[in-house]
Parts: sequence; C-alpha cells; structure tokens
Amino acid sequence: MDLDFDLIKEIRKRVLGWYSRNARPFPWRKTKDPYKIWLCEIIFQQTRIEQGISYYFQFLKTFPTLRHLSLADEMQVLKVWEGLGYYTRARNLLKTAKIIYQQYGGFFPQTYEELLKLPGVGPYTASAIGSICFHLPVPTVDGNVRRVLARLFEIQGEPNSKSFTSTTQPIAEQIISRKSPGNFNQGMMDIGATICTPINPKCEKCPLINCCLAYQHKTQNHFPQKKSIRPVPNLHWAVGIIICQGKILITREEHRNFLKNLYALPTVDISTMIGSDPKHIFSELALTTHLPHHVKWNFLFQSIRKYSHRTIHFYVYQTQIKTCPKKIFSPYQWVPFKDLPKYPFSRAYTNILQKLK
Ligand code: SF4
Repeated sequence: MDLDFDLIKEIRKRVLGWYSRNARPFPWRKTKDPYKIWLCEIIFQQTRIEQGISYYFQFLKTFPTLRHLSLADEMQVLKVWEGLGYYTRARNLLKTAKIIYQQYGGFFPQTYEELLKLPGVGPYTASAIGSICFHLPVPTVDGNVRRVLARLFEIQGEPNSKSFTSTTQPIAEQIISRKSPGNFNQGMMDIGATICTPINPKCEKCPLINCCLAYQHKTQNHFPQKKSIRPVPNLHWAVGIIICQGKILITREEHRNFLKNLYALPTVDISTMIGSDPKHIFSELALTTHLPHHVKWNFLFQSIRKYSHRTIHFYVYQTQIKTCPKKIFSPYQWVPFKDLPKYPFSRAYTNILQKLK
C-alpha cells in the first residue's frame, strides 16, 4: 500500500508532537547508550514493565557495562535473571556481550544488518537499538504498534500472520520519521500502550484521530482481528523435597533447552498417574533420585503455574533421610540449605522453596 505523502507527513508530525509532550518517563529514555537500550529491550520482550523494571536495575548494578557482562559466567547471569523466565534471553545476552567485546572491540555494530546477526537480536530489538542509538530509520513493530496500524488503516488478518506483516511492514517503513526515528518508534509504542488500547481505545485523546479509518468507520473493535484461542494442556508434576543432615537434593536442568543450566528440585511427570495410589508417585520419586523405596513421603502442598503454552500442577512431597546416600548420580547434588541462594532456579521452583521457609 503506497501512502499519500501528505498523510505520511501528518502522521509523523502528530506522533512526534504527542511524544514530546507525553512520553512515558522510563529511566532508559534518558540515555542513548546501546548497552542499556539493548538490555531493556531484551528484558521487556516478554515481560511487563512493572515486573521487569527491578531486573533492569539489578542487572545494571551487577554488570554496569558491557565489559562487566562479557566477563561474567553463565551462572552469575542466570542468578540475576532468576524468576524472569525465558532464560534463553539471559544466555543470549552473555553470548552477545562476549561477541561485541571480542569481535567489535566493545562497540555495538551500527547497522541494522549487523545488529541482526547478534544472538537473541531479532528485527524488533535491532530496530529499537538502531533507531534510538544510531538514528536508523527502521520501524519497531511490537504488539502495540501492530494494533495502532491495524486500526489506522483497517488492516485485515491476525496480527502475527504473514499476510498481516506483509501489509503492515511496508506501511511502517513509509511512515517512520527520517529525522527522529527513535522518538517516532517510541511514540507509536506509547500510543498503542496508553491510548489505542485493546479494549475501549481513548480515541478522543489520540493524536492520530484525524487519520484513522477505524475511528471514522467506528470499527475499532474489529481491528486487529482476534487471535484464535487454542486450548492449553494441563500437566501434573510431583516435586520431591529431600532433606538429609541440613542438606537438600537439587538437580540441574539438562533436557529442557529453554531452562538449560538452571537448577531444579527433583521432579517427575505424574500426569498419567492422577487419581491412582500415591505409592506409585513415591516410587517414581525414589526411582528418579535413586533413593530407597521405603522412605516415607509427606504431602506438603499443591501449586499451579500457568504458562502461555501449558499449565503445570505441582504436588510437593517431602522426605527426611538420616544418612545421605554415598553414591549420587549427576546432575543431582546435595546442597546445604544456607547455600541455596547461590543457585539460580526457575520461578516455579523459587516459589516452592520460598514456601518452605
Ligand atoms: S483514533 Fe482510536 S482507534 Fe484510531 S489509532 Fe487512535 S486510539 Fe486507535
């Protein structure tokens, strides 16, 4: 879709004017340091701002510069990231820091194409860094911007579909301001986040009201098209709290790639055993951890964790044994209770461990 140049100029003027008066006062908006911009873009990719902001500050406190991060080891980085989820992001941060330090002399590459080659940096992050830090006119199209574009131009299709992207991307490339691409991108994101909201958009406060087809036709609720909702499977996992002489048995995630190298509590999938005799669960826990079958288990509590792709029901059991088995199989290890805070766990296990205190 080729847009009329007067319309393009109008949109740029309105978005930039609105942004100069209404930008949300986030701390990272006071800087153009690519390290900080990159960090916040990665943290907030799949995380709400209220949840991620303390991680942003903690990360900067622990690794104030790219050099500090590039010298860290994975366990340190995962520990700071603990509880934030999508741990591949943390591992990619470390990989990218090392690459920039070793291959680019400690300076971020300044073209969109080179930025895209960095681990964990996709079109969204590359365009955010490129437009904010290096003035590149590349649009940053997140879910909020997709919604604004869908309504402005009444674009059909599900926002994540190929057809939708192939229509919106050329439009986003046409309208982005050449003079202030970073501010324009952030303005579009803020309009989407605060005004053009999914339900009840505040059109009367919107700087784009005069350019908006959905407003003219009163079709705001029809755009963007709703995603079809797929049912999410329910899984049931038994977690063993195994205590011996002031130590607890923990393990390390080795098979689930996205949690790789995080620590976990001994866990077995009991989805097929729900409703059966708990003895089967106890023998599965004993088998997995190589404990004698006669150990006595107590049920402690149940908790639920909902993810975008599944819901997991955790059933937490505890046992105390007097003599720690001499032979222990990797990746299991005994850890003194007082040392547990040194180990990075995913949020599901952190929550379980907190309930034990
Ligand atoms: S006028 Fe309303 S529907 Fe159109 S972009 Fe603004 S807030 Fe969204």
